[in-house]
Amino acid sequence: MGNKMVEALSAIATSSQEVLPDLLLMNFTIVNACLVGTAKNYVLVDTGLENSADYILQCIENRFGSGSKPQAIILTHGHFDHVGSVIKLSELWKIPVYIHKLEMPYITGKKDYPVGDPTVDDGLVAKLSPTFPHTSIDITAYAAALPEDGNVPEMPEWKWIHTPGHTEGHISLFREKDRVLLAADAFSTTKQESLMSVLTHSKQISGPPKYLTTDWKTAEESIKHLRDLKPSLAIASHGEPMKGEELTRHLDMLVDNFNEIALPV
Ligand SMILES: [Zn+2]
Ligand SMILES: [Zn+2]
Repeated sequence: MGNKMVEALSAIATSSQEVLPDLLLMNFTIVNACLVGTAKNYVLVDTGLENSADYILQCIENRFGSGSKPQAIILTHGHFDHVGSVIKLSELWKIPVYIHKLEMPYITGKKDYPVGDPTVDDGLVAKLSPTFPHTSIDITAYAAALPEDGNVPEMPEWKWIHTPGHTEGHISLFREKDRVLLAADAFSTTKQESLMSVLTHSKQISGPPKYLTTDWKTAEESIKHLRDLKPSLAIASHGEPMKGEELTRHLDMLVDNFNEIALPV
């Protein structure tokens, strides 16, 4: 029931914004995905929910013309709200899907995530989290591990950064030249556990979504790592983009008060 409700919500409020000339952010109410690159060479980073495929296809057609398809799909991790449309789209496009090697078992039918923990917060999304899909999907035919050297296939200027904690093989993506960070679920810029904050897009830095995070010590180290990169613009998978001084201030605040802000009570 929770998943159906989340899908219903996502269907009524999809939107997109061009954050940079080569970066389109697509919002499915409770989660984001991005198109990164130009008509000649671009990728889809994460795939939203199961019913997000049509909107993604629409955005691609508007941006790059009909019949266009990305060179690859990059997954930041294997949670249901990031891999929702990956089966449909990888089969349609017949392109590789890259993910950290530690996340491979979750998209090749070998390992399931734990069930969401509803006790971490009183917010409605947290309360619904045990009903979210947590079992492995299987896209063995298209899945491939990211190269060990930090390079990202089809994203020549970007590096992947291992930011475990939320999941073991969680990654963020960073482009040195303009210090743009795709943080994924390493931290959020909304209070993801609360449906009200999610729906009103209220801006508030917080740790990774609490109900699905498994290793808080490692999650804290990952946030420090990202803060130390001094990003100028951060796009988290949950929440609005944050940049400049506001971003620096919020990241410092999160690092300095990690226990109070991020940890479940
Ligand atoms: Zn996640
Ligand atoms: Zn997420």
